[in-house]
Amino acid sequence: MAIVGRPNVGKSTLFNRLIRKRKSITDPTPGVTRDPVSETTILGNRKLEVIDTGGLTESREFLDRLITQRSFSAMEQADVLVFVLDVTELTPEDEEFINRLRQFRDRLILAVNKVDNPTRELEAYNFLSLGFDSVFPLSAAHGAGVEELVEEILRRIPQLPVPERISEDGNDQESQINRVTADKESESDGFDISIALLGQPNTGKSTLINRLTGADTSIVSPVAGTTRDVVQGSFEYKQRTFRILDTAGIRRKSRVEEDLEYYSVNRAFKSIEDADVVILMIDVDKGLVEQDKKIAAQIVKKGRGVVLAANKWDTLEDTPNTLRAVTDRIRFLFPVLEFAPILPLSALEGQGIPKLLNTVIQLRTQLEKRIDTGTLNNALARWIERTPPPQNKKHRWKLRYITQVSKHPVQFILFVNKTKGFPESYLGYIRNSIRREFGFTNIPISVELRDRR
Ligand code: GDP
Ligand code: GDP
Repeated sequence: MAIVGRPNVGKSTLFNRLIRKRKSITDPTPGVTRDPVSETTILGNRKLEVIDTGGLTESREFLDRLITQRSFSAMEQADVLVFVLDVTELTPEDEEFINRLRQFRDRLILAVNKVDNPTRELEAYNFLSLGFDSVFPLSAAHGAGVEELVEEILRRIPQLPVPERISEDGNDQESQINRVTADKESESDGFDISIALLGQPNTGKSTLINRLTGADTSIVSPVAGTTRDVVQGSFEYKQRTFRILDTAGIRRKSRVEEDLEYYSVNRAFKSIEDADVVILMIDVDKGLVEQDKKIAAQIVKKGRGVVLAANKWDTLEDTPNTLRAVTDRIRFLFPVLEFAPILPLSALEGQGIPKLLNTVIQLRTQLEKRIDTGTLNNALARWIERTPPPQNKKHRWKLRYITQVSKHPVQFILFVNKTKGFPESYLGYIRNSIRREFGFTNIPISVELRDRR
């Protein structure tokens, strides 16, 4: 993998972040000549060589010596080229680069650097107009967006296993540290899942935790050495470590204290923030309260996965009609969670627990999914053809293109000719099409509109 771009766009800064060291020298003076620097590192579960093509030139003779022989051969050999631009300025040198890089088009990833704030993020998407089909905004200096870039790099390079030993010179330990956080996100088995277990007092949260983390269950076993004090319990299931985060109302305190904690919605909000998936416990014999709705709205806003656990199912007569009745009632009360699975559960007797955990794993997988821009836009063209946007004399709505800007939470940006007054129902159609076609069936997704004339 090689990092390319004109001087001063932040290549060395990015290089250092990827290899987690201060090797190449970042220099604020443009045009400082450096030879390509290379380093072997581990990204995700792959070992790869990262090359910073460095100072390609003296600025005076820039266009002539744009691509020195050594840098050029580095590019020819690389599986992936990360082409870096600076969001704050696009220069003639950049355009020259774009022309020269055309021959490597299918190996090129566009990274727009110095995206240090949200306004610049929007500006970064303008770079799509240079003819790239996706863009990775990032701040090499602060780390934002680097994880997403790493994932894209990993998607593009051929699958190579990580060797047992990285090198013969005792470098292993260092290489371990070099792992960028994305390895936690990789699709491999064994990722951790953080659960926030929320619900009114007395719905059965402690009973469920005891069952999951207690020694008297067959499918789960306690994990030793839980250190973080925000973790209420952890256990393993299907080779994954599940952590139940410390959530309001779980601790064994006096009932009064516990109630007070529950009503501290802020605390519940905090645990939603920290979680991958929320299990919202509902006592099927009781109603729902305002707080449950606030929590539901927050889960959607934060784009977390959520399962509605209809607990104490053992107190009902278990028939298909019962399930339908309970489901209807919950759907009616939680319209914002229309996508969330509703699962019957008896924390006390243990029925429904494997299904609950399997569902949590599924949601987590959906949260991690990323659809590439090309695929999305092909689909968008089909959806528009099947059902064109409403047209009238005043408005001719046009959809330009769509891109997934993040996963976990899963967010898309849809560029349209005019956002103002864009028909909500059509946006809903697009959102549902994304859900159905790409399998984001049970998690909240957001599709934001942006103007692009
Ligand atoms: P290179 O010549 O392409 O290798 O660029 P460097 O990595 O040396 O960076 C050039 C300048 O841009 C340095 O002053 C960096 O500190 C600065 N820089 C790099 N990344 C960022 C970033 O994400 N945000 C901002 N604001 N500055 C950055
Ligand atoms: P928490 O306040 O949400 O932690 O709720 P607890 O776990 O303390 O449970 C409250 C009460 O509900 C206790 O008496 C539990 O035994 C009971 N309970 C919990 N889960 C179930 C269940 O699945 N079925 C039945 N029948 N009772 C349950």
